[in-house]
Amino acid sequence: MSNNTEQGVMEKLVSLCKRKGFIYQGSEIYGGLAGTWDFGPLGVALKNNVKALWWSRFVLGRDDMYGMDAAILMNPAAWEASGHVAGFADPLVEDTKTQKRYRADHLLEAAGVDPKGMKAAEMDAAIKEKGIKSPDGNPLGDVRQFNMMLKTHVGAIQDDSSVSYLRPETAGGMFVNFKNVVDSFHPKLPFGLAQIGKAFRNEIAPRDFIFRLRELEQMEIEYFVKPAEWEAAFESFRKEVREFTKDIGLSQEKVHELEVADEDRAHYSKRTIDFEFDYPFGRKELYGLAYRTDFDLTAHSNRSKQDLSYFDEETKERLVPHVIEPSFGVDRTVLAVLADAYREDELGGEPRVYLALSPAVAPFLACVSPLLKNKPQLVEKAKEVRAALAKAFPGRVAYDDNGNIGKRYRRQDEIGTPFCVTVDFDTVEGKDAPLDTVTLRHRDTGEQERVAIADLAARLVA
Ligand code: ATP
Repeated sequence: MSNNTEQGVMEKLVSLCKRKGFIYQGSEIYGGLAGTWDFGPLGVALKNNVKALWWSRFVLGRDDMYGMDAAILMNPAAWEASGHVAGFADPLVEDTKTQKRYRADHLLEAAGVDPKGMKAAEMDAAIKEKGIKSPDGNPLGDVRQFNMMLKTHVGAIQDDSSVSYLRPETAGGMFVNFKNVVDSFHPKLPFGLAQIGKAFRNEIAPRDFIFRLRELEQMEIEYFVKPAEWEAAFESFRKEVREFTKDIGLSQEKVHELEVADEDRAHYSKRTIDFEFDYPFGRKELYGLAYRTDFDLTAHSNRSKQDLSYFDEETKERLVPHVIEPSFGVDRTVLAVLADAYREDELGGEPRVYLALSPAVAPFLACVSPLLKNKPQLVEKAKEVRAALAKAFPGRVAYDDNGNIGKRYRRQDEIGTPFCVTVDFDTVEGKDAPLDTVTLRHRDTGEQERVAIADLAARLVA
């Protein structure tokens, strides 16, 4: 079929997302704002399904996990203690003519140089040695570190005393509440704090649709363990992260684990595994799993002068727990799920575009239709069937009586609805098929079967 190059697939996906109400450019009517995208009705439904699956696996499904929702704005001392004010930076290089700014490591990669492990000065030397120019063909300036935290002022006075940051990761809010949760719940080690929320990064070059954003959403866990037990917890989360990629229906052969080399790890990490995904634009980080040692609790304890140690009732020992952190990007998940599901094929002799989304994440699980919208008995029955299904699957059953039935199927295919249910004359008259049966159509194959209304709910979870 048409343009199925990597770029072609991304363009088609971005356009489908806009047309169908999944994802719109942020502030579009004002020309947009780089690095921001808005989720429309179907996008938010998909995203909420992803978040609910995550919360269900990692919080509700365990008895060692405590949910949280910390403030986005924090006392700036927290980000000084965590090392983000000093070190949360990416290498920046500027086109000397246009003043456009680029990630030095991205330009090196594009020129066939592997930037992994390079310091800013080494990148600078490599750019000069290879004579790498900006994408506009102009000379580049020196590489320098650019801090990615988004600064703001809190309160009516706009001076240095009111500077704060929009959190660059949700993790900080959990570390500063470690003592609160211990005091309220007296959990035994190991235990974890989990939260879902927005984070902000002033990325030098936001790109690839919702892959690299300036406003993003994360689902993170800080799992506190006895120092000697970090490896077992790390391995256990490694499996759990993998299981989550199955929950959301990702093709397993597109998910890869990468052991991150010492020199490429974040300043707080002693071991990191990146879970990468084969996006249409290449293999890139989807999630991270890091062993953060006691770095954060110790740093916050030193800075806040609060005791953030833990008293182990069993051994009567006081210790600073170590931390395993699985970190998931919501937006990168949504993009992986959508890109993985995008399909073009031919059905009934006609080309079609559809999303082979897993029923677990699809915005709608099913769509109910009357065969004809001008036959009141069919409409009434269809609404009845829809209402019954909506009780079983709240918010996940659509109703559509626009256009002919073939068009309705195509519309649902394009937004990834796994099942279509059609109420026809046999449903209400029972002539050529038993009374109170409907047509159940399967998205991927287009196959149709006759199913009793009473059995529908059980069939839709399949
Ligand atoms: P990258 O190397 O791609 O910039 P990172 O290593 O900085 O990512 P982490 O700091 O480990 O990312 O953040 C945890 C997770 O948050 C990532 O695995 C990813 O899913 C998500 N994430 C990070 N930065 C962004 C971003 N700019 N836009 C969207 N999601 C992001």
